[in-house]
Amino acid sequence: MDGAVDLSPRRLDILVDETGDEDSDSAWSEATCGGRLTIDLGAIVRNYRALTPRASGARVAAVVKADAYGLGAGRVAPMLAAAGCDTFFVAQVQEGIALRRDLPMSRILVLNGAAPGAEAACLVHRLEPVLNGWSAFEAWSRATRIAGFRGPCAIQFDTGMARFGFGFALADAGRLAARIARTDHMTVGLVMSHLACADTPEDPTNPAQRDAMTALRPIFPAAAFSLAASSGIFLGQSYHLDLVRPGAALYGVAPVPGEANPMCPVVRLESQVVQVRTVPGGAGIGYGHAARAPGPMRLATLAVGYADGLPRSLSGRGSAWLDGLRLPVVGRVSMDSIVVDVSRAPEGAVAHGDFLDLIGPANGIDGVGREAGTIGYEVLTSLGRRYVRRYLA
Ligand SMILES: *Cc1c(COP(=O)(O)O)cnc(C)c1O
Repeated sequence: MDGAVDLSPRRLDILVDETGDEDSDSAWSEATCGGRLTIDLGAIVRNYRALTPRASGARVAAVVKADAYGLGAGRVAPMLAAAGCDTFFVAQVQEGIALRRDLPMSRILVLNGAAPGAEAACLVHRLEPVLNGWSAFEAWSRATRIAGFRGPCAIQFDTGMARFGFGFALADAGRLAARIARTDHMTVGLVMSHLACADTPEDPTNPAQRDAMTALRPIFPAAAFSLAASSGIFLGQSYHLDLVRPGAALYGVAPVPGEANPMCPVVRLESQVVQVRTVPGGAGIGYGHAARAPGPMRLATLAVGYADGLPRSLSGRGSAWLDGLRLPVVGRVSMDSIVVDVSRAPEGAVAHGDFLDLIGPANGIDGVGREAGTIGYEVLTSLGRRYVRRYLA
């Protein structure tokens, strides 16, 4: 058979020996995917430890919703538990059920609460739904009574975000406190609220929400109070209350936009070079010829695209990096690839199979968010499933 390729097992063994590092599964698998994502678990723990003294004595919980902002709750949460974190927040009951397998002992709260019918799942998996309103409260009260469960519940008040929680008029709060006192099986363990404008320190909404929480204190004297997420921790001691709930700062996102980031970087994303080519001036580049070469240009095609969570808004705006050298994205982000201008890189410095940084020391999560016209949170939680993931301890 003319031109047929010999793919017999014996011949493939020889190929693996010649092209791959047979001793290293990871080297082999990294060559088979478009990007590699390195997640520094040690940096997450350092960030957790760095937030503790900033919280002026408040307990520091960890928010691990959305799979720990895309970084892998099953890896992140046990590390934080080993570092002393005993309280975890997820958004959804299903996330709590998955997390319970990794955290047999920790307290797990569900920010969105339990939908009608999900109360039993919460009880079975020892999840605490945050009770955001009367109907959720009554359903939880009934489910816990039937199950013979006695214990604390978590209540959220809407102190000014119009998203989750009981109205914070003191009369409503008093009515709720009286209602709970009439049950013989429930107490209030946590009273929480969420800041709408914490990333804008001078916004007067911040002190207004804090003062609303302070006014609720005497109504729930035995409860722990919680208001601050990552940015709120940096608003100062009066926002810390008893428990703070950082998410983003643990994962290296800057808690105060526009200021130097005190958190350790956690994520590095590198993309593999598929091809390097030189095009003549006038060449149309990528879909729609959204870019045209102004003169001869050396281009590298990288094997990640919007299917990997790279925002399409990086078209013509994003960057890859060769150490500190910026390699601008040219033309549109495709589903599985982008094209970057490597004309300024030394000849031969970018070659087929090399990895270039997309998120890294030269440009972190927040920088990529800015380029994409979004925030670091969205870049993180969009990180795709096709990357080879490496966890550093
Ligand atoms: C997501 C979330 C947090 C964590 O917010 P970060 O800004 O990521 O620290 C805390 N509390 C609530 C209610 C949230 O929804």
